[in-house]
Amino acid sequence: MSRREDLAANLGAVRERIAAAVSAAGREPGSVELVVVTKYFPASDVRILAELGVCRVGENRHQEALEKSRECADLELAWHFIGSIQSNKAAAIAGYASTVESVDRLKLVAPLSRGAQDAGRQVDCLIQVSLDPPQAAGRGGASAAEVAAIAAAIAESDGLRLGGLMAVAPLGEPPAPAFERLAGFAERLRAEHPDATTISAGMSGDLEHAVKYGATHVRIGSSVLGSRPLVQ
Ligand SMILES: *Cc1c(COP(=O)(O)O)cnc(C)c1O
Repeated sequence: MSRREDLAANLGAVRERIAAAVSAAGREPGSVELVVVTKYFPASDVRILAELGVCRVGENRHQEALEKSRECADLELAWHFIGSIQSNKAAAIAGYASTVESVDRLKLVAPLSRGAQDAGRQVDCLIQVSLDPPQAAGRGGASAAEVAAIAAAIAESDGLRLGGLMAVAPLGEPPAPAFERLAGFAERLRAEHPDATTISAGMSGDLEHAVKYGATHVRIGSSVLGSRPLVQ
């Protein structure tokens, strides 16, 4: 099979999984958006995906994302930044990302706002919230207690729009109860910020659980592109 046939078949299967999960959850058809995570894969794959109707792609490393977004500048793609953010890269990321999903500390908000304004752009920000038990620190993500302050800072910042929350399922724990907790955090956020309706959760292995608990965006890498090299 050609790469294009491969990607088309994988994409079709993922779209069917999403549609089945949406239907099983009794949710509105089309209520879950697919972000295809293209990290480690070449711009040529991004180009094929765009031809196959993908409109959102996710990347987790700044340099790689910057280069690919430049190579694909002629395509009308929304770039989602989903990786951990060094403070000194935040402004540059806001120069090409339409959504920054991994805002996990207050300190990132000012440089993101400056970068968005310098580029004359409006950037959606999601707060990455940790679903790990407190003792398993270090995987990224704000604690639930930190969300309100980060949300307020984003909401007050020029060039930024508060979109909602993002999370990754905890390691070594079933994803469903974690995504249910995430739904609770999202409800609390919406009480304060009614437009912050995005819940980005669910990856190749757990998208059904995420959709069941209200994910509006799923981030799918390996089920579309195949397995990545093991260097992460
Ligand atoms: C790599 C990555 C994904 C995609 O993971 P798959 O298991 O390959 O679908 C989703 N979200 C984040 C934050 C990632 O880093």
